[in-house]
Amino acid sequence: MANSKYEYVKAFERENYLLPETYIVIRVDGKGFHKFSQHYNFAKPNDLQALQVMNAAALEIMKRYSDVQLAYGDSDEYSFLLRRKCDLYERREMKLCTLFASLMATFYTLFWNKAHPERPIELEQVPTFDARAVSYPSFEIVRDYFSWRQVDCHINNLYNTTFWGLVKKGMTPQEAEQRLSGTVSSDKNEILFKDCGVNYNNEPEIYKKGTILVREFDEYKSEATPVTAVSSRQRQKQDKLRRKARIEKVHVDIINNNPWWDARPWLRE
Ligand code: ATP
Ligand code: ATP
Ligand code: MG
Ligand code: MG
Ligand code: MG
Ligand code: MG
Repeated sequence: MANSKYEYVKAFERENYLLPETYIVIRVDGKGFHKFSQHYNFAKPNDLQALQVMNAAALEIMKRYSDVQLAYGDSDEYSFLLRRKCDLYERREMKLCTLFASLMATFYTLFWNKAHPERPIELEQVPTFDARAVSYPSFEIVRDYFSWRQVDCHINNLYNTTFWGLVKKGMTPQEAEQRLSGTVSSDKNEILFKDCGVNYNNEPEIYKKGTILVREFDEYKSEATPVTAVSSRQRQKQDKLRRKARIEKVHVDIINNNPWWDARPWLRE
């Protein structure tokens, strides 16, 4: 582009480059989905189709960006783990966040309309997402991050399942809220069992654990060599392997599950 006397305005722009050699996690979260879910009459406490729309949108992002090794989602949020050596958009925070948020909103709309041809997205209630990116310096912290999200999923789901269980048994929302105020997990399990006839253990895994999308390699070769020592041809080859790797969807415990993480050393790289 030709230079102009106006171009100096570009000097006011600021860019945050996420620290090199750190794991990047980008979390998107639906804006006002409490209201969104009411508008589109989600089943409560869990609308399975809506979760599947989230999963389909996240999978599409993962297919496009081979730097994403793992994604975890529940409710209206998804977290994407980008590999430590990722150089996507030179690790520019604004590029990454705006890109992920807009992809999520667009894919959500497309997959929603595909799943609900009778109830397409309406102009007055469109799905939008915010996004944040955080860089984590160690894999232990990355694991704690995903544990944090899965614990959050569990706590919310236990509460919501009990709350809606009581409402379905005839309580008003206010009464159900009162009944649950001050209760701990074991109380909720008992209320569910005794008052609602529901054994929480038998609830679907996707509700209790959320969804994990993970890249899987049949024959994995470590990339442990420093990035500078790897030729660009080697890098292209490794990228091709990542692109070709299949992406699996599971609903398992990732908190106290060292074997699961240890079996996937590429997540650590
Ligand atoms: P980047 O992702 O870096 O922004 P880009 O391909 O979007 O890459 P831009 O500099 O943003 O590059 O330029 C947008 C390009 O999109 C234009 O160069 C033009 O080719 C095309 N384009 C956008 N809008 C129109 C339009 N209304 N009619 C024809 N071409 C268009
Ligand atoms: P914010 O804009 O601050 O994120 P929010 O209304 O989206 O506000 P969240 O804390 O993100 O608040 O919670 C998302 C809400 O969306 C849940 O509390 C729940 O009511 C609803 N929701 C999302 N997904 C589902 C689903 N699959 N089934 C039922 N309800 C859902
Ligand atoms: Mg929020
Ligand atoms: Mg939200
Ligand atoms: Mg949320
Ligand atoms: Mg452009």
